[in-house]
Amino acid sequence: MPDVFADLVGQDEAVATLRRAAAAAAAVLRHAAGDRTSASGGNADAGTPATDPGAGMTHAWIFTGPPGSGRSVAARAFAAALQCVYGTGCGECPGCHTTMTGTHADVRLVVPEGLSIGVGEMRALVLRAASTPSGGRWQVVIIEDADRLTEAAGNALLKAIEEPPPRTVFLLCAPSTHPDDISVTIRSRCRVVPLRQPPPAAVAEVLARRDGVAPDVAQWAAAAAQGHVGRARRLARDPEARKRRDAVLAVPRRLTGVGAAFDAASALIEAAEAEAEASVAESDAAERAALETALGAGGTGRGAAGAIRGAAGQLKELEKRQKSRATRAQRDALDRALVDLAGFYRDALTMALRAPVAPVHTDTAEVAAAGAQKWDAEGALRRLEAVLACRAAIEANVKPRIAVEAMMLALWKG
Ligand SMILES: [Zn+2]
Repeated sequence: MPDVFADLVGQDEAVATLRRAAAAAAAVLRHAAGDRTSASGGNADAGTPATDPGAGMTHAWIFTGPPGSGRSVAARAFAAALQCVYGTGCGECPGCHTTMTGTHADVRLVVPEGLSIGVGEMRALVLRAASTPSGGRWQVVIIEDADRLTEAAGNALLKAIEEPPPRTVFLLCAPSTHPDDISVTIRSRCRVVPLRQPPPAAVAEVLARRDGVAPDVAQWAAAAAQGHVGRARRLARDPEARKRRDAVLAVPRRLTGVGAAFDAASALIEAAEAEAEASVAESDAAERAALETALGAGGTGRGAAGAIRGAAGQLKELEKRQKSRATRAQRDALDRALVDLAGFYRDALTMALRAPVAPVHTDTAEVAAAGAQKWDAEGALRRLEAVLACRAAIEANVKPRIAVEAMMLALWKG
């Protein structure tokens, strides 16, 4: 039976660190329990250990790594190991099981839906995290995308990390420990677990083993996803995702003039919008229906009119949240497309340099080879840089359409 760390693909070093920390955390709990027994037994010295039982365990952690490397998977697995009744992350006990399925009472997961995590959300979270763990082990707070904390939210979190309640553990996930991603003061209070981009072979292995994907499809998807485990799984299993990727990889062939460049930009933006809309439409509608029901919409009782007056504010709040989530989903979709495109020009570059590495996109390798011949290494590099500059511009809040149009023109002109 695989334990909770089994899905951390190609991260042996990080897993070893986390296993040690989980064992140390279990020792802390045993020691505390020993203290209580010895105190009630009247023998105050009995529980004193020769060494600090908490060595290797700490209250605040940051998991860093490129998107898809498994930051949140690692954080959740570690949370499970902390709640595991054996202290190992066995994968089978109630502590492991409820943590992995997201129902453990002492594990809170913050997944920002919008572009940032606000201070209100963070204060409420910090407050609840300070309570005594109901399961008698640890209160664990996992913050995905901690790089999206607002400054005020970061400060609220920092206070909690500086003076942590004795049984509370904060697990943050961020792309890196660069000050743009995580404040220097928070970073200085945390232990960092760096994750690396898993090698395609390791990703393919997990797709085949866990998801039952045929080995050849798994290998193709792992290479095409460039080490992003979730993306590889989607490519292997979702025909729509494959279709979208094909459309993106058709772009280099379609850039035959200025008009075509603008058309390609529009197509890319609209495809990202459509993908984002599809991904949030269902939850948007369900949330609205749930709120309306809760607010008594359609009711005819005496309270109904008053309830609807108060409801306007709540509905507005929900719409604001949904709009923020839609923007985020659009950016994510566009970014995935840009990463695919960058992979194509990277293939052209490595071919022009005759570098002995496998192509990212095996299915467009011939087109990339033709490009390599036409553009030479310099031309391929300029195009790759244009794609990366577009990603950076969108990250820096340049309007996506403007950034993508500039990129397409640069790709066409070379
Ligand atoms: Zn367990």
